[in-house]
This record gives sequence, structure tokens and C-alpha cells, in this order.
Amino acid sequence: MDLEQLIRDVPDFPKPGIVFKDITPLLANAKALSFAADTLAKSIDDDQKIDKVIGIESRGFILGPMIAERLNAGFIPVRKKGKLPFTVVSKTYQLEYGEDTLEIHTDAIQQGDRVLIHDDVLATGGTAQAVCELVNSCGGIIVGCNFIMELSFLNGRAKLPSELKALITY
Ligand code: IMP
Repeated sequence: MDLEQLIRDVPDFPKPGIVFKDITPLLANAKALSFAADTLAKSIDDDQKIDKVIGIESRGFILGPMIAERLNAGFIPVRKKGKLPFTVVSKTYQLEYGEDTLEIHTDAIQQGDRVLIHDDVLATGGTAQAVCELVNSCGGIIVGCNFIMELSFLNGRAKLPSELKALITY
């Protein structure tokens, strides 16, 4: 199925000069939505048991739970600073301009849990790398990372574990 035709380029969003890859046409298409979740869930070998799927705020919260349900795994939200109600582990990381902080609940991952990380877009890889560090510091085992889109010219892949899948590569 051609998912790429359901990604809309929005120029100058959120700032002038940025071409934003908008996934909402894909999400609005019933067949494309279930195909995307099926394909990302199937990218994990059958013998690779996943205990938890992490979705990264905020667009990782859309397909993340769909993938978790297909893998019979739990879902864990990783959120921006100050959004999670219980005690958290935090990781601050560098953006192109400035920095950001992501958080996970301290009890979200049990020692030895096998974890799959999901987000909508892999760009420079800084966000997903920070989440990998959170998982490692909680004692989880990262089985893989997957994305709807990879902006391969930014080489975010180099920062992440080798088990990496994207539905669309630019
Ligand atoms: P990175 O940390 O540079 O890899 O950026 C990835 C994060 O930025 C993800 O959480 C994405 O949701 C977001 N992001 C970057 N570029 C785009 C885009 O063109 N469309 C949607 N989200 C984007």
C-alpha cells in the first residue's frame, strides 16, 4: 500500500523554512491506518516477545497503542516535562536550538522488560536517543525502534540501535 501519498507536506510549519510532514491524511484513511499499525507490529520477529511499547509524545501516542495491542504488549507514554502525574525519570537532550526534557514513570518498565519504541518521525534522532537512555536507565531491554517516517538525510539512525524500521523513508 502506498502510504507516502497520504503524507502531506506543509510548508513553513511550525516555523518559516520548515516543511512539516503531516500524517493526518494517513490517520484519516481506515485501510492505511490499520496497514501502518499491522506493518510496524509485524516488523518484530514472532520469536521476539515485546513486553512494552513506548509512544513518544505526542504523535507517538496514536499508533503506539495500536502496535502494542497487536503485539499483546502494554503501552507506556513518554511525555514532555511536567506532564506525568507520578514519580518520573527525566532525560534532557539537545535540540537544534535549545534543549528539551522527556520523562517516564519510574514504575513503567520492570527490570528486563523487552521494549519497542515508537514515534511518528525520525529526524535527527535526538528524541528517540533520549528515550533509549530512559529505557536503559530503567533496566529495560530495547528490542527495536520504529517510525512512520524516517528523514534519512539527517542520519538519525546512527544514534539508535540497529533494529530500526520506518514505513516511509525520505
Ligand atoms: P528528532 O529528535 O530530530 O529525531 O525529531 C523527532 C521528533 O520531532 C519527533 O517526535 C517528531 O514528532 C518531530 N518531528 C520532526 N519533524 C517532523 C515533521 O516533519 N513532522 C512531524 N513531526 C516531526
